[in-house]
Amino acid sequence: MSVKPIITVPDELLKKTSDPIEKVGDNEKRLVKDLFETMYNSNGIGLAAVQVGILKRILVIDVSTKEEKKNPMCFINPVIKKISDEKSVYEEGCLSIPDTFIEIERPKLCDVEYINLEGKLKYIKCDGLLSTCLQHEINHLDGKLIIDHLSKLKRDIIIKKISKDKKNLNRVIV
Ligand code: ZN
Repeated sequence: MSVKPIITVPDELLKKTSDPIEKVGDNEKRLVKDLFETMYNSNGIGLAAVQVGILKRILVIDVSTKEEKKNPMCFINPVIKKISDEKSVYEEGCLSIPDTFIEIERPKLCDVEYINLEGKLKYIKCDGLLSTCLQHEINHLDGKLIIDHLSKLKRDIIIKKISKDKKNLNRVIV
């Protein structure tokens, strides 16, 4: 297991669509372990494989609070099957977009079909933070970021600011 470097905007990989997994093998299991380790190490609540530069439809999530027991969840080839008309708003951050928080409205509920680490097809009904986090991470698999919810002008300002900060501070999240 190892902590992987997380790629950040404007890395072009973040705009790419990730490929489905055909079979859950040792490579995928190893990748999931690395994703969990990287996510916990960065204090994130979700991480998609593309964020460590691997274009596979795999993501990990843990929305448990500090007081609760860890609740690692892994989703392979996740597909949103149903969404609610009712919306909810969270201020979302992203490990690939340092120091940026954006209020985003998403469907409050979603049903997701996915494959688990044992290769079994599963179905989950999500609400609250899990629903938002899962939608955020599935967006990553389709090359969509939280800044894509903004106008192009606002997006460019954020990316410019991050690129400049990077030069100054040589910031790396690992
Ligand atoms: Zn993200």
